[in-house]
Amino acid sequence: MVARSVFCSPEVLIMNRISSLTLKPNMALFLDFDGTLAPLCDDPDSVGISAEQSALLMDCAEHLEGALAIISGRDLRDLAKRVPSGLWRGGNHGLFIAAPDKIVPPDLPAMPNALATKIDELIKDMEGVWLERKGPVGAIHFRAAPQFEPDILKGMDSILSRFSDYKSQHGNMIVEAKPLSADKGGFIRQQMRRRSFSGRTPIMIGDDTTDEDAFSVVQEMGGKAIKVGPGNSGAQYRAETITDVYSFLRSGI
Ligand SMILES: [Mg+2]
Repeated sequence: MVARSVFCSPEVLIMNRISSLTLKPNMALFLDFDGTLAPLCDDPDSVGISAEQSALLMDCAEHLEGALAIISGRDLRDLAKRVPSGLWRGGNHGLFIAAPDKIVPPDLPAMPNALATKIDELIKDMEGVWLERKGPVGAIHFRAAPQFEPDILKGMDSILSRFSDYKSQHGNMIVEAKPLSADKGGFIRQQMRRRSFSGRTPIMIGDDTTDEDAFSVVQEMGGKAIKVGPGNSGAQYRAETITDVYSFLRSGI
């Protein structure tokens, strides 16, 4: 019996590879941003995509007759600075949406002051941990101080037990407090009812736990879910790297 390579994780062996897929004109494409189209960085403000990558995304959108959306946990105003304005953009996990060429409103509702105050109190002595305010969503970043993760998770559970319209979401070196209605799966259901998306096969590509509800929704709709990078996932396909994602985008054009 041939021994399996120790360099292949079980997930990679059991999941289909993105290279077995080709971009087809009847697809509707949903793309996460950080970790999917752009590499993860310690400083989220420094993350971006190249002019060539932006042009490729616009070519894909044209190929799909507009059925392409970027869906991110970033604040919509922040996301809009990093991706072409000619695309559908869903920010704050789909809570706020901008149609192609529509201007993103400068003012979005903020998170409740009482919630922000509680989170500030929780992290005030945790050096390297910071709260990002993304409209109504609060994101605690601890990439620079991962030792605080257990305390943050416990503290957030306790805080959010007092805010019934909020839930917590644990991602890659981040814990977010987000309104119950903010989820990427809901965004996909909403987009698939629009004329330019309806009747197509939905494809979701993402890298983090925040993408799992979207993976479930596209598979329920007969589509395909693609997980980028290692880790457990409900997705049927895997892209090992961001480069594989761009190769898929280039296929079929
Ligand atoms: Mg991501």
